[in-house]
Amino acid sequence: MSAEPFAIPADPTQRAARAEELRHQIERANYEYYTLDNPTLSDAEYDALMRELRAIEEADPELVTPDSPTQKVGAKPAQGFATHRHPRPMLSLANARNIEELRAWEKRAHNILPDAHFTYDCELKIDGLAMALTYERGRLTIGATRGDGIEGEDVTANVRTVHDIPHQLKDGNIPERVEIRGEIYMPISSFEQLNKELSAEAAKKVNEDGTSPAARLFANPRNAAAGSLRMKDWRVTKSRNLHFFAYQIGYIEGMPEPETQSAALDLIRSWGFVVNPHIRVVESLEEVEAYCLEWQQRRFELDYEIDGCVIKINDRHQQEELGVVARDPRWAIAFKFPPIQATTVLREIRVNIGRTGTLNPYAVMDPVVIGGVTVKQASLHNEEDIQRKDLRPGDTVLVQRAGDVIPQVVKPILEKRPLDAEGKPIAPPYELPRTCPACGAPVRKDPDEAMAYCTNPIEKCPGQQVEWIRHFVSRGAMDIMSVGDEVVAALIAAGLVHDPADLYKLTADDLAKLDGFKEKRIANALASIQESKMRPLGRLLFALGIRHVGEKVARVVAEHFGSMDALMAASAEEISAIPGVGPVIGESLHSWLADSRNQALIERLRAAGVRMTADAPTEKPQGPLSGKSFLLTGRLEHMTRGQAEAALQALGATIAGSVTKTLDYLIVGADPGSKLAKAEKNKVAIRDEAWLMDLLANKGHDIHAPESEDEEDA
Ligand code: NAD
Repeated sequence: MSAEPFAIPADPTQRAARAEELRHQIERANYEYYTLDNPTLSDAEYDALMRELRAIEEADPELVTPDSPTQKVGAKPAQGFATHRHPRPMLSLANARNIEELRAWEKRAHNILPDAHFTYDCELKIDGLAMALTYERGRLTIGATRGDGIEGEDVTANVRTVHDIPHQLKDGNIPERVEIRGEIYMPISSFEQLNKELSAEAAKKVNEDGTSPAARLFANPRNAAAGSLRMKDWRVTKSRNLHFFAYQIGYIEGMPEPETQSAALDLIRSWGFVVNPHIRVVESLEEVEAYCLEWQQRRFELDYEIDGCVIKINDRHQQEELGVVARDPRWAIAFKFPPIQATTVLREIRVNIGRTGTLNPYAVMDPVVIGGVTVKQASLHNEEDIQRKDLRPGDTVLVQRAGDVIPQVVKPILEKRPLDAEGKPIAPPYELPRTCPACGAPVRKDPDEAMAYCTNPIEKCPGQQVEWIRHFVSRGAMDIMSVGDEVVAALIAAGLVHDPADLYKLTADDLAKLDGFKEKRIANALASIQESKMRPLGRLLFALGIRHVGEKVARVVAEHFGSMDALMAASAEEISAIPGVGPVIGESLHSWLADSRNQALIERLRAAGVRMTADAPTEKPQGPLSGKSFLLTGRLEHMTRGQAEAALQALGATIAGSVTKTLDYLIVGADPGSKLAKAEKNKVAIRDEAWLMDLLANKGHDIHAPESEDEEDA
């Protein structure tokens, strides 16, 4: 078990005082979270308070009060809704934070039922809000929230607007009365869209002092779902994209209760509910563990948030024998994933200059650990995004890191914003600097573009140069690893380097002027600069940082033309026609090469001895489709476009970058793009997915072509 950051006070009076303080904090957080749908603590902070309170109460059971948050669920129903008394209480779930705690849960269950063999129903823990739906003779009569577990809010009118919730159970075996439990949730994409709309609405309003009020953004899809469902006006609920996964029968009358949780899910499904498709029934704890760890990895593939897995002992009789302790059933457990959100303080908003001159604001924050990684900086995208969220230095902010996605500042916690003596925010709303922080040139921002730009050309702006050279020396580009980010910044600050060609002029005396550069480091740097001259043309093209020219495209183009001279002599059309390139990249590359300043740069690189030729092209597989070019558009049903392209290439085909007269086949899936019209205009052969599947199944032989040998044979 991981060490806890708190110590239980040894002194009984202090212990009681701390328990009281924690209860107070937790009650407040419950109110903000369950009633207002506007938490001011992250779940991680909340869970830590709960763990501390539980630890104190375990150490000193006399401190357990019946109304302690450890003994009850959620919060009382909010004013303004009728209440609904749950015929069977809606409980919470005990938590396991790791595999050891999961094993301990299973051991406790086996201690109670030593001879039992358990089958486990493994479900995803949907991060939404629990809902109890009552159906009488098949008709939906009540939809209620969990509330405090005993009484919930009657939100029937709102619940009826949720698409996945049937108003009438499907014909078949319909009981006299049944309560279906499940989770209402909002897809992540809808949540992001909703927050955007809320900030746009706030921006339209005007305060007395002429500013716009800060938008109250939802912290996460769970709060957005709860806030949207618990609206006084059902029409607002209807306008929000809410969904429902059913996962349990609360009680059933006039029909026997299913014997297992999995049978209950089958019955629920047969009535027309959506049951989560990733539920799995397994026979051993090892398989349960594998399921939990699998979904901990895969959680970010879904368009809805899950905060863990729920493991339920499948057999209902075993469930009944295991019973309930305090507010949690003993027969189920929530395996909780590490939280992806945390709060910290935003200290400063700094601006970095990109190599194309963009002003890129980013947040500098007090370091905070999220999912095992320390986060202290996060991109803030652009001025509008910062103003939309109303982020200001000094704010406590909610930060999120979902998987490998770069950290994001979700929103400020407005309740914690530092105020002056008059109650006004200390920091004003954020504005991007009007001049470039690197070179002082005026900043340009077109009204219909999100990004602002430094107006100086790259030769005059050290900020742009730093990013350019950092890219040039990076791995995958010229790979000059002994010249790292800080060295690049120092070289530019010292005026020794302005563009990539300057790197090749550096002498030992130059480097000796930099801090920390002694003989060995100088020799290493010069050697790796020297060595980089032999990189093939593809690497050089990528390193030059030409807009739209990524690593793969650079290699393909270089291998196609073989040399810089041949590439420079090519037209934009010739470049665009290379498979995988297309007109946008072709045009960008061609105009970069046509610019006299860039031509001068290439000549200086050439004079310094940098290689201007490509490696021999990688061997293409030969096959029945050799010499034939294909392009795909629209969505395929049986495979992804990438898979189809790889299968065609394996048979010798080339994949074209765009529709041209020389294209042999356009394969059209569902919802095709503009390529279809262009292919029709250019009289390209157009084929569907069924044709493609036959072609692949017959190893590249077109069984539909009238003149094909296969056809004659058949
Ligand atoms: P819980 O969310 O940990 O687990 C119980 C809930 O899981 C059930 O009520 C149900 O709604 C849900 N659930 C989702 N999928 C399920 C499935 N397949 N089967 C069964 N249940 C499923 O417990 P809780 O008591 O609802 O909430 C406590 C948690 O809420 C805390 O751990 C914390 O993360 C969060 N919280 C945060 C704050 C805050 O201020 N940030 C305040 C209060 C609560």
